[in-house]
Amino acid sequence: MSEPRLSDKVRKAVAFRAGGCCEYCLSQARYSPDSFSIEHIFPRAAGVTDDLDNLALSCQGCNNRKYTTTSAPDPVTGESVPLFHPRRQQWADHFAWSDDFSHVLGLTPTGRATVEKFQLNRKGVVNLRRVLREVGDHPPHGTERE
Ligand SMILES: [Zn+2]
Repeated sequence: MSEPRLSDKVRKAVAFRAGGCCEYCLSQARYSPDSFSIEHIFPRAAGVTDDLDNLALSCQGCNNRKYTTTSAPDPVTGESVPLFHPRRQQWADHFAWSDDFSHVLGLTPTGRATVEKFQLNRKGVVNLRRVLREVGDHPPHGTERE
């Protein structure tokens, strides 16, 4: 979904801060056929502003699945937990790569709920990770922690 009220300056700042990667599945915008969205972590309907602390760069796949949700069930316990918050939490605290870097694994209730809700291991995304791994362009810098 486009956000026409966000200025170019804000959009560029969010994309730069994210290193050009979706802040959930870590897909790289430069390899995506669709343009990425600037996503409101807490929806505007909840009365929040366009403050940079409430914005994240998101691919269309993650953005469409998130919509206005901020919590989802942990698939292990069934308990509703907050979704990953890219501004307040570190990706590597909640997620890890599988041994071959093709799949995102949830390490915490929030991580697991986010993997499930956003389907972070969508087939096309997994295929792209494998191809990019072959050419040395995956995972994105800073997420290689074993
Ligand atoms: Zn994504």
